[in-house]
Amino acid sequence: MEPIYVTRSYLPKRSDFDRYLDRIWDSHWLTNQGQLHQEFAATLADLLGNCGVTLMTNGHLALEHALMALGISGEVITTPFTFASTTHSITLQHIKPVFCDISEKDLTMDADAIEPLITERTTAIMPVHVYGHVCDTDRISSIARKHSLKVIYDAAHAFGVKKDGQSVAQFGDMSMFSFHATKLFHSIEGGLLAYKDEKLKKTLDALKNFGIEDEETINLVGRNAKMNEFQAAMGLCNLSDLYEIIRERREIVMRYRENLAGVNGIRYFEPEANPDIEYNYAYMPILVDEAVFGRSRNQVYDNMKSRGIHTRKYFYPLITDFGCYREEYGDVSLPVARRSAQQVLCLPIYNGLGMETVDLICNLLKN
Ligand SMILES: *Cc1c(COP(=O)(O)O)cnc(C)c1O
Repeated sequence: MEPIYVTRSYLPKRSDFDRYLDRIWDSHWLTNQGQLHQEFAATLADLLGNCGVTLMTNGHLALEHALMALGISGEVITTPFTFASTTHSITLQHIKPVFCDISEKDLTMDADAIEPLITERTTAIMPVHVYGHVCDTDRISSIARKHSLKVIYDAAHAFGVKKDGQSVAQFGDMSMFSFHATKLFHSIEGGLLAYKDEKLKKTLDALKNFGIEDEETINLVGRNAKMNEFQAAMGLCNLSDLYEIIRERREIVMRYRENLAGVNGIRYFEPEANPDIEYNYAYMPILVDEAVFGRSRNQVYDNMKSRGIHTRKYFYPLITDFGCYREEYGDVSLPVARRSAQQVLCLPIYNGLGMETVDLICNLLKN
């Protein structure tokens, strides 16, 4: 059997992509806010509704630009149960990350644990809609309002997720979406900032292009984080397939749930059980409770791997246990995050994964 990986990048119809390539060859315009970049940004602005949008070359730089544009400094309250990028963006901006535990319910930041972490140096909260699970946005925004904090959502996993019929981009001061090739919707590499205050657009556009405002004006010290035309072409192609992509992933997730329902010691999530939520089926995380299931998450991972099924311990280790953070943060008390990192396993999910393969993976898991 061919090995099965946890994900496989989506590719649009080759002929659709070729039509965009023809336009690039006609225009000789490869980057710097080209036609396709503008079209992609306009389509995304329509889709997300009611917010400013700025495209970047990747999600990580978008996060750093969010912190820069909002002038964040001092301390930022964030989650340890995420991809390295979230914390690195804070650290690289010379800000101190302050780790908040996560909620048992959906593994997003535990809103009840935020307030005790606020100090006079706190300027922002950076929660993550992990796996596309929507954070407790109401509580987070009321805490932020009470303490005059900014909120930047790492929404890397949450493209296509809606609450009350609107995109998750409506929450907080800014949201970052990642369009990396491994995400459910991608532009090869790519990132997007969505924000309430449309005045930020000018700052972000300058910051991502060396601070250049016009040919003779540079007032900000900026980097290069521009998205190019090939990325925008891939994004435009994939965007027209978005609802089909989500529909197919939903079927895969449903098949997993049918197979795993009632298996003692295996827990999965059903975000759309909340009628306000439209989920994107981005990931298939499960929690393996060794005491009940009889085998540990690591044993399940190893067994599957020996059969050519590559699951992923996403997220393990916790950020606070990484070599670069351990010394300073290794002792922070984060009981739920720590237990979840020991139990979590992401099962393969990608467009094109057959139902018989899902059944096979579940049978291996159960036996
Ligand atoms: C993918 C990801 C990022 C980084 O996005 P890139 O586009 O890969 O730079 C940040 N945070 C989370 C939670 C992610 O999954």
